[in-house]
Amino acid sequence: MAHLFTKGLLLSLALGLMTACDDVDTRPQMDIEGKTMGTFYSVKISGEIPQSQQQLQQEIDALLEQANNDISTYRDTSVLSRFNQYRGTEAQPIPRGMADIILQALRIGQDTHGAMNITVGPLVNLWGFGPEKQPTKIPTQYQIDNALKQVGLQHLKLISDNRGEWLQKDRPDLYVDLSTLGEGYGVDQLVNLMMRHGITNYLVSVGGAVSSRGVNGQGRPWRVAIQKPTDKENAVQALVNLQGYSISTSGSYRNYFEQSGQRYSHVLDPATGRPITHKLVSATVIATTALEADGWDTGLMVLGPEKALKLAQEKGLAVYLVSKTDTGFSAIMTPQFNAFLAPDQH
Ligand code: FAD
Repeated sequence: MAHLFTKGLLLSLALGLMTACDDVDTRPQMDIEGKTMGTFYSVKISGEIPQSQQQLQQEIDALLEQANNDISTYRDTSVLSRFNQYRGTEAQPIPRGMADIILQALRIGQDTHGAMNITVGPLVNLWGFGPEKQPTKIPTQYQIDNALKQVGLQHLKLISDNRGEWLQKDRPDLYVDLSTLGEGYGVDQLVNLMMRHGITNYLVSVGGAVSSRGVNGQGRPWRVAIQKPTDKENAVQALVNLQGYSISTSGSYRNYFEQSGQRYSHVLDPATGRPITHKLVSATVIATTALEADGWDTGLMVLGPEKALKLAQEKGLAVYLVSKTDTGFSAIMTPQFNAFLAPDQH
């Protein structure tokens, strides 16, 4: 019997990242929360707020709704789902934002030698982590081999010309899954909204992707906590001050199912067609945009502890990796990440 740790429950547990608030309010702070992308979003603003909470919430919901209509594989009518359903090989028009996501995904895909791979959709669905829900049994090697035939970044081409952006596949059955990047993209959309309104003190999050700038209601820099890789909520591993940057965590310890005592993570290795099995349990990345952080964290998770650290060092990435040991967990970070640790954490 498979034991499933449901995403709804897991995502409500703050997704490995939470904000740390410990003082008494000294300035106005607005908190807006809602649901999107099968998870939750949160927008916290302090100081002068240029319009009503209701107006701002409507704008936020409209932005995130647009993102869902563009890239959700959970909506049959989204632009991405229609591309996946299309059984031809002609280039299809796509919105600019979706092209930005795919460009970033292809770059990180190349840098990770295909470990971060947005054509992994058939495997995600086969293992039951996509919109087609959970499997009742582990797929056979035959099923995995068949799904693997549909996977490969070389089958996907992004075209930009004076008429707009286009996406083309050379296999009619290619299935693109942007789930791993959607939260980061959503956060970047919220950051752009803050900037358009001249808001300079904010902390915004969608699922496990967060960005913050300025100070909180107590006049102190926002701090973000990386949670310990356990099933328990609110066990803090490290605190960071983002200083206008974005952070994202990918982990194997919150979204998985168990069968016969073995855990099967939702992070899949495109080289084997199977969930990752190494000892890296979470990868946290800080980057200029949340989209970039969100893409890298999954790529590093697939690579495993040694290769992930080597690549992070080569690329000069701000990365925090937590691995399972015989006695518990061990963490390692790059110097670029160390620079973001809250002062009392050094
Ligand atoms: P991450 O670690 O960031 O990514 C892991 C996910 O990426 C996997 O679940 C899989 O989908 C994919 N993946 C696995 N291996 C790889 C790989 N090697 N390379 C690239 N990608 C890989 N969920 C719902 O239940 N209901 C919804 O209505 C819903 N709507 C969504 C709408 C949008 C626009 C998006 C982007 C996602 C939606 N989701 C929905 C999915 C969900 O909320 C999460 O985005 C998803 O589970 C992955 O996010 P994560 O941060 O947990 O994992």
